[in-house]
Amino acid sequence: MNPKYEAVIGLEVHAQLLTDTKIFCGCFTKFGVPPNTNVCPVCLGHPGVLPVMNKKVVEFTVLMGLATECTINEKSIFARKNYFYPDLPKGYQISQYEKPICEHGNISVELKSGLKKNIGITRIHMEEDAGKSIHDQGDSTLIDVNRCGTPLMEIVSEPDMHSAEEAYLYLIKLKQIVTYLGICDGNMEEGSLRCDANVSVRLKGEEKFGTKTEVKNMNSFRNVEKAIEYEIERQIDILEDDGKIIQQTLLWDADASLVKPMRSKEEAHDYRYFPDPDLMPIVVSANWKNEIASSMPELPKKRRDRFISEFSLPKYDAEILTSSRELADYYENVLKVTNDYKSVSNWVMTDVLKVVNDDKISIKEFPVTPENLGNLIKLINENVINGKIAKEIFPEMLRTKKGPQEIIKEKNLVQITDTKEIETAIDKILSANESQIKEYLSGKDKVIGFFVGQIMKETKGKANPQIVNELLKKKLETFR
Ligand code: ADP
Ligand code: MG
Ligand code: ZN
Repeated sequence: MNPKYEAVIGLEVHAQLLTDTKIFCGCFTKFGVPPNTNVCPVCLGHPGVLPVMNKKVVEFTVLMGLATECTINEKSIFARKNYFYPDLPKGYQISQYEKPICEHGNISVELKSGLKKNIGITRIHMEEDAGKSIHDQGDSTLIDVNRCGTPLMEIVSEPDMHSAEEAYLYLIKLKQIVTYLGICDGNMEEGSLRCDANVSVRLKGEEKFGTKTEVKNMNSFRNVEKAIEYEIERQIDILEDDGKIIQQTLLWDADASLVKPMRSKEEAHDYRYFPDPDLMPIVVSANWKNEIASSMPELPKKRRDRFISEFSLPKYDAEILTSSRELADYYENVLKVTNDYKSVSNWVMTDVLKVVNDDKISIKEFPVTPENLGNLIKLINENVINGKIAKEIFPEMLRTKKGPQEIIKEKNLVQITDTKEIETAIDKILSANESQIKEYLSGKDKVIGFFVGQIMKETKGKANPQIVNELLKKKLETFR
């Protein structure tokens, strides 16, 4: 990026709330049902029907507000945002405009440089989703209104971010918070988290903001990062050519890795917002707010700090293990079987996460239960198996979903700790390698490694390595 310039970024994020029913009617929010079946006169916008507020939506949004240090407004109101669109049967969307429920919060992120940064949250408000227009099935456009009335929470940030990295980290953090709260599944690919990025650039030192564009249509965190990077460069190039930035909405084209204009602000809508006369103001009393606050689950930062203090884990481990609530739960569930905190951490961070990442599955779909992983680690600590054998058992556990004990029995993998048996193996290897014994006696200690390797091979990897080492050295001395 041209060092003369500074980028300014503000994000608007829509999060689909995990309530069972829609925001203003009793229809289910379930997905994957046949089109136009989760509907009723209210969400279809029939004349004369009345919306009824879903209390859970308020509670979820207040939880988010509290988790991001927002002021929770005691009184907030709904407004009608008027526009025509085929997938919006009412001709308006119920949203919050002048008086949103949460304001003035922040989300803190840690940059790669280690620097901490607070990113302001302007507001969080509640609104309903519109339906879906389907353009890719045949010659005509189809409408599915199942999504009409699905509850959304919109989180609007201050224009506080100055790089694509900051925006990326902010989004990751935001997803972490909503998933820890259990109010949104955070899945950007499936659209339960949608992000619009507002981007402008200005000369460094300049106070006035430059003209901004709004980039939409990014369906992954990495795409948001790429789109912002692209847009920053595009704007700088225009300014360097003495051009002017046009305020407009752009669509990110992930395949081509560039933005395309969607509409310019000239044809932008005038939404004619006005308070919805069918809905009472939302009043969040101090009592209700406290009640919601008391249901707040442990948030990522607190859980990470607890992992460090309670389990003596390095910050690095704690950070990774608490990166998602499910992973942190998995880790703590393994601890129910064994309290070897660091070994469990190593197994989860390397062996478990490798499979999760390679197979692109979630930890919830991971085939080895926390209990079985815990038992495997326990068996190592109890000297029933050694670490090498454990690494052979683990893939079997993945493949068969069997417990470690069962696999050990089936494959006869119990560690050999019987000194007689180990001695027999040692004798056999020594008698077959006389020249190496001479090397050892002449001072070449490294030969030990060769012998251990041979003995482990002889015992099919099952000998206890410590006992092998001890006995081997003793035996070698007898040759002096
Ligand atoms: P609009 O009325 O166009 O929707 P808002 O004032 O509501 O604009 O701001 C929408 C988002 O754009 C917010 O996240 C805000 O932080 C961000 N934003 C506002 N001005 C700028 C700017 N000049 N450059 C980058 N982002 C901006
Ligand atoms: Mg806006
Ligand atoms: Zn309905």
